[in-house]
Amino acid sequence: MAGMLYLVPTPIGNLGDISKRARETLENADFIAAEDTRVTLKLLNHLELKKPLVSYYEHNKSFKGEKILDRILAGETCALVSDAGSPAISDPGEDLVKQCAAAGIPVCAIPGPCAAITALSISGQATGRFCFEGFLSTAKKSRREHLDSLKNETRTMIFYEAPHKLLNTLTDLSETFGSQRPISLCRELTKLHEEVIRTTLGEALERYTQAPPKGEFVLIVAGAPEKTKAAPTADDAAARVSQLMGQGLSRKDAVKQTAAELGLPKNAVYSAALEEE
Ligand code: SAM
Repeated sequence: MAGMLYLVPTPIGNLGDISKRARETLENADFIAAEDTRVTLKLLNHLELKKPLVSYYEHNKSFKGEKILDRILAGETCALVSDAGSPAISDPGEDLVKQCAAAGIPVCAIPGPCAAITALSISGQATGRFCFEGFLSTAKKSRREHLDSLKNETRTMIFYEAPHKLLNTLTDLSETFGSQRPISLCRELTKLHEEVIRTTLGEALERYTQAPPKGEFVLIVAGAPEKTKAAPTADDAAARVSQLMGQGLSRKDAVKQTAAELGLPKNAVYSAALEEE
């Protein structure tokens, strides 16, 4: 019988954020697949756990993924962790989950720390609808294509960024969305120097040009304002009435339906239709 793959989130800065269930899962797993075994060893030492570790990271994932799969198929349980936060979210793991799903191996995700969601919730930006954009590419062309595809995005956007690339990214974001677009820069979340700067792209650029950014950042950028639909005109109302009458509705029913669809008073629609005749 096949074992199981567990996705175990780890703290993004505050060791107190490891959950009871995450700890138990690490303790009960047969082995742990880790992005950087040295980083995970520190966490295991803190938790006073000893477990066999294998490395699973971006550049060995296709080769190591097969080996991990074989062990799980032979009945072992594997806990996958990344350096910090939720595995498989801009972290190795996505492919391993796909491989397990394809092989019919059960995968269980333990909920826990995730920089994107922590930042979004503290950002002060709209949280009802959002999209996760991860890291922008370092290649100029795909970076440009990525940003161009977001020009009309109305949902709140979440980006991950490394401090040494932040100025470039703020420049590109400002060129794409305009310097007045609101942004929340969420820095060093859950750590001693946690900071949230709620400002505009233009002001953020100015600020970090003067004082180079330090620490880890999540950028929460407001979406484009929803385009307000132009109010329906008398001509729109008359055209709709005539279209509905052409489909066989009586004038009375066509006026009633048009008024409801366009949010106009029935007598205004009626007069518009008469004038058009
Ligand atoms: N899978 C992880 C997660 O979901 O939390 C994210 C891993 S990704 C390789 C690392 C990026 O997450 C960093 O470059 C930064 O953008 C963000 N990040 C991680 N920890 C953070 C923290 N404490 N404060 C702010 N951003 C953080």
